[in-house]
Amino acid sequence: MNILDSELVQEQLQALGYQFTSIAADADVVLLNTCSVRQLAEQKVWSQLGRLAIEKRENNNDLVVGVLGCMAEREGAELVKRMPHIDVLCGPSELDKLPGLLQNAMQNRQRQVALSGHTSRRSATLEKAEDGVEALDLSRSFSATRSSKQAYVRITRGCNKFCTYCVVPYTRGPEVHRPPLAIVQEVRSLVEQGVLEVTLLGQTVNHYVFQDGGKTTSFADLLAMIHDQVPDLQRLRFLTSYPRDFDDATLDVMAASPRMCKYLHIPAQSGSNEMLRKMNRGYTVETYFGLIERARMRMPDIRFAGDIIVGFPGETDADHEATRLLIQKVRYKSCYIFKYSPRSGTVADRRFVDDVPDDVKKARNRDLLDLQNGIALEIHSAMIGQEIDVIVEGFSPLRVHRPQPGEVQLGWEKRSAESTSHVRLMGRTQGDEIIAFEGSGDLVGKLVTVKVTEATQLSMRGQMVP
Ligand code: SAH
Ligand code: SF4
Repeated sequence: MNILDSELVQEQLQALGYQFTSIAADADVVLLNTCSVRQLAEQKVWSQLGRLAIEKRENNNDLVVGVLGCMAEREGAELVKRMPHIDVLCGPSELDKLPGLLQNAMQNRQRQVALSGHTSRRSATLEKAEDGVEALDLSRSFSATRSSKQAYVRITRGCNKFCTYCVVPYTRGPEVHRPPLAIVQEVRSLVEQGVLEVTLLGQTVNHYVFQDGGKTTSFADLLAMIHDQVPDLQRLRFLTSYPRDFDDATLDVMAASPRMCKYLHIPAQSGSNEMLRKMNRGYTVETYFGLIERARMRMPDIRFAGDIIVGFPGETDADHEATRLLIQKVRYKSCYIFKYSPRSGTVADRRFVDDVPDDVKKARNRDLLDLQNGIALEIHSAMIGQEIDVIVEGFSPLRVHRPQPGEVQLGWEKRSAESTSHVRLMGRTQGDEIIAFEGSGDLVGKLVTVKVTEATQLSMRGQMVP
């Protein structure tokens, strides 16, 4: 979500004539788009802000420093108290106001603030959010020179789930859905610019529903609409699915639509019913397995990705063992494993003691990573010999680069100078697996067929099929 927000901000500012530089010392404005989900993410921003304070004091008094996103929303007052050199604070639901804020900050040299106050004024925010949900997304500038063949499209903002550990409902506000026609139009425009793959985004993306007069568009309806009304779109996927309320209609559309990726990122968070209850996830391990089975029945080759939190308050060895069993049973193709990070203001932080020692959290994290890596290697090894369609994403580095939250991903334009020589390429399958192979540089951005020859835990190697 933050990658998309950064892209939209960048497109919006570029359209107004701002230029972007990768050399910090050249910048007149520095914007940090922030994440509050875990403590570590916030710590990184605090230290960046510390460095910017020195830069501003010692080298560039006129530098404009802006903090965007969830940390601005959550820590606004504390941020400006500790870091008075911040000129702009802009919450994640207010990013359409950023150009005005920047202009005022530069002209008046006065701090500019746009926050939604989701935490304190939830009902007022809901009304406001309904008006403003589309503002930033609609300002998307479609440039003919867009280099990336992959794009994110937001279909839902915010979240109503209030999982006890999570800050998102407080920083991004209540769930609001975009009208289906605007979404289809955005996908169509992206495809007209050469985009091959679109990922629909929402915190609980399968909750999408839109009422217009007497007509209701469900998530399954939306997927079918996009798939059928934009026939040149090669791949359609979505993130992140919520295990509860995942209906058969959606699975049926996925199974019946050839250009829909057979891929679900569907975080379980834990394999223990007691932990799920304390997390307020609203489903049981049994319901979760039921969904996995319903999906596999319709799409035997479907790939699952997940998120797990280890060391949630009260997590015992038996709970941990239950999570191991879940991972073994689901056989994720990849799984993010996080150590529980208490967040102030959340129910878990108020109600439960963070009682799992850090070394136990670390050991459980390591244990699950090892387990998951073994499974990923088996999944990749089973693909050796298969011929698969991949979208060539770029040149293969020694280590595969995944954009980090906050990093603006500009696709593969960075190394386009190597265009036509025979190089090592990196592509992605519809199941989100990564494969490296040799080929001509001008294949970047194209769909090709590759035969899998080798497998590792993180990726595969292969040869192009002529
Ligand atoms: N909306 C998505 C997830 C958004 S946050 C969903 O519900 O699936 C991304 C991931 O961060 C979560 O799935 C969870 O695994 C992790 N996470 C969120 N809050 C956390 C916390 N306080 N400590 C550790 N991990 C957390
Ligand atoms: Fe956070 Fe839960 Fe909402 Fe996901 S569903 S964003 S984990 S509150």
